[in-house]
Amino acid sequence: MTQNLDRLNALPLRDDLRGKAPYGAPQLDVAVALNTNENTHPVPADVHTAIVEEVTAAAWTLNRYPDREFTALREELAAYLGHGLGAENLWAANGSNEILQQILQAFGGPGRSLLTFVPTYSMYPLLAAGTHTGFVAGERSADFGLTAESAAEQVRRHRPDVVFLCSPNNPTGTALDEDVVTAVYEAGEPHRAVVVVDEAYAEFSHGGTGTALSLLAGRPRLIVSRTMSKAFALAGARLGYFAAAPEVADAIRLVRLPYHLSAVTQATALAALRHSEALLANVEDIKRQRDRIVEELRRLGLAPAASDSNFVFFGGMPDSRAMWQALLEDGVLVRDVGIPGHLRVTAGTEEETTAFLTSMERIVSAG
Ligand SMILES: *Cc1c(COP(=O)(O)O)cnc(C)c1O
Repeated sequence: MTQNLDRLNALPLRDDLRGKAPYGAPQLDVAVALNTNENTHPVPADVHTAIVEEVTAAAWTLNRYPDREFTALREELAAYLGHGLGAENLWAANGSNEILQQILQAFGGPGRSLLTFVPTYSMYPLLAAGTHTGFVAGERSADFGLTAESAAEQVRRHRPDVVFLCSPNNPTGTALDEDVVTAVYEAGEPHRAVVVVDEAYAEFSHGGTGTALSLLAGRPRLIVSRTMSKAFALAGARLGYFAAAPEVADAIRLVRLPYHLSAVTQATALAALRHSEALLANVEDIKRQRDRIVEELRRLGLAPAASDSNFVFFGGMPDSRAMWQALLEDGVLVRDVGIPGHLRVTAGTEEETTAFLTSMERIVSAG
């Protein structure tokens, strides 16, 4: 390791990347992996068949570059989102991480800044660093909430070029009120800030929690980012997308790599979207497991945060590191997100959730 580090340091790496650590959620071989908020339900058999058929057909076209505009996919994504959106409002890339990177390539960059409200998704500072965009860590209240007044005040104070709002927020799980999004957009209006709402977990929200898709009309610098990695159980396919004014997609066309979405990716996503009902059928079960985790952790005397996502952020432990280790010894991998006294667990299948809760009960009663 140190030898590798010495060799890395000997390379003519950009100064601002020196000493940085790459994204590295552990990929350990455990019985119950509940650490990266994947959908732990496998792809349903009929969806699997549809994907294989579509990819088989696409394989005959691989001598040619794929449709650079992925028009069929954008039409299908617009139809899925509704809200009067058309293909011209949609853009897609290899995961929403690439979406966010492309947004920073177009609207961030040297001399510009990104504001987010921490704790939030750990990739945001890395995407800022990679695109040479200044990173401003905005604040939340002690309970990790964010009010419209506080968010707007921080936008006026820092005048960021880009704001990322994560809703439901990772790692805390809670969705933002609509008025936070509108207040941030308004506060950024004088200096034309681009506001991105990262809705990676939108499909898991409790009924009635809004989506920023309804706020797009009349807001040309608002972008709503989504992914097929979580609710659609398609993390391995790498498909993220956004909805925004058509000119935002035109801006991204200036920075995307040519043919960035492979024919195989397009075929996979298309087949999956045409079966979205079957794919999303597991979302209700995951929400039940999530609510079960919140309830049971409360019963054990811990302090879970309200969750609109497929994971639960919880505190109330004297030693979260020891808890993480004890769970791992039972074959249950959860996420230490680096916030002392807190851990994050993904809602799995009923069996996985039971394994986690059984282990927690054992650890707490032994404690
Ligand atoms: C998981 C996650 C994503 C999804 O990333 P992909 O690149 O689409 O797999 C995006 N944003 C947040 C906050 C996430 O937790």
